[in-house]
Amino acid sequence: MTDLLLRNGRIMDPANGLDGPGDILVRNGRIEAVGHGIPAPDGCLLVDVTGRWVTPGLVDLHVHLREPGEEYKETIASGTRAAAAGGFTAVAAMPNTLPPNDSAAVTRFILERARDAGNARVHPVAAITKGRAGKELSEFDDLLRAGAAAFSDDGSPVRDAGLMRIALEYARGLDALIISHAEEPALSEGGCVNEGRISTLLGLKGIPWAAEDIAVFRDVALAELTGARLHVAHVSTRGAVEIIRRAKGRGARVSAETAPHYFSLTEEAVLGFDTRAKMNPPLRTEEDRQAIIEGLTDGTLDVIATDHAPHSSLEKDVEFPLAANGIIGLETAFPLSLALVRAGRLDPADLVRLLSTTPAQILGIPGGALRPGDRADIAVFDPERPFEVTPENLFSASHNTPFLGTTLTGRAVLTLVGGRIVHNLLGTGGRTESP
Ligand SMILES: [Zn+2]
Repeated sequence: MTDLLLRNGRIMDPANGLDGPGDILVRNGRIEAVGHGIPAPDGCLLVDVTGRWVTPGLVDLHVHLREPGEEYKETIASGTRAAAAGGFTAVAAMPNTLPPNDSAAVTRFILERARDAGNARVHPVAAITKGRAGKELSEFDDLLRAGAAAFSDDGSPVRDAGLMRIALEYARGLDALIISHAEEPALSEGGCVNEGRISTLLGLKGIPWAAEDIAVFRDVALAELTGARLHVAHVSTRGAVEIIRRAKGRGARVSAETAPHYFSLTEEAVLGFDTRAKMNPPLRTEEDRQAIIEGLTDGTLDVIATDHAPHSSLEKDVEFPLAANGIIGLETAFPLSLALVRAGRLDPADLVRLLSTTPAQILGIPGGALRPGDRADIAVFDPERPFEVTPENLFSASHNTPFLGTTLTGRAVLTLVGGRIVHNLLGTGGRTESP
């Protein structure tokens, strides 16, 4: 492994109060020094990162890597390569694979595949219930021992409130994290867009905001009842933000994420029956979008996660109601989040906190900071670099994103995992990849 010196970047590490020009020396896979005018040791690769942001590697609490079972959409190798291209050095992989990750064997398989690929660290999220069927709890103990980082039935809610309560009690005893896919199916079933003006206009069955708010309220109440840690996935409504804000005010052990599409787009994006903008929860109204941004600004929402959900044209090039939910997000998350900084809604330090520091803390994994001695999981971004979102420029095996054909601003130009170069657009040393 080559040692390297990142010279003259904007070092951004809110965990240590750093935001200013400096150098980082990486040796033997770890951060050896952070400071000014660090001399380059012999044989060290010198990388000039003037004008670039140097941050802890981003941490994504919510991705779907599709392996095992749907490798034609994405593999652990291609999904983690997309992560590296987005500046992510660690991702939490949701369990709705085929078979679902409800066993130590599947958890270990995912970890082995991730190690073989070597592009990013993968933290498997195991299913709360066996087969994600909502009937019987999976073996939390076994799964934690095999390397599961958290539990979720993501893709589906746990319908039975009594079972969710038991899951939270069990998780509390193990200090494990439960991630809630908050959806009341009695209200959402058959829906494919936000219920309101657009659903009426298009003649599509809607999913009301109440389907999310009720479920968030239920799971937050159960977290308070049991004292367990709860993380609410993909918050999309104004009401959910308010419920979480109030719960935090009472001291509940609740954290929450939203995804870039919920603060970048509204339900208008599905006009023309564009299945690339179909997801669950659906894109909401401008009022919801503003409430999501407000939630990020005041700390109600702790994390920006991508909910990276690759699908092939088989699932997307079909009639709107039949199309699969979800969009890819690993490679567009940084530029879309950066747009909030440009708009004056977030500080650059908030961005690093939301995309790296806090998700690492919630998951209880190393990373999210740039301390000497830490393993060198580092991302370097060019905040001015245009990123044309085309199939050729994406590393994900799927291209289902409503941002396809647009040009975003800001891109990861160098990503290191344990000091190894896993993504490099600088054309300097190491393994250089196109584009
Ligand atoms: Zn979900």
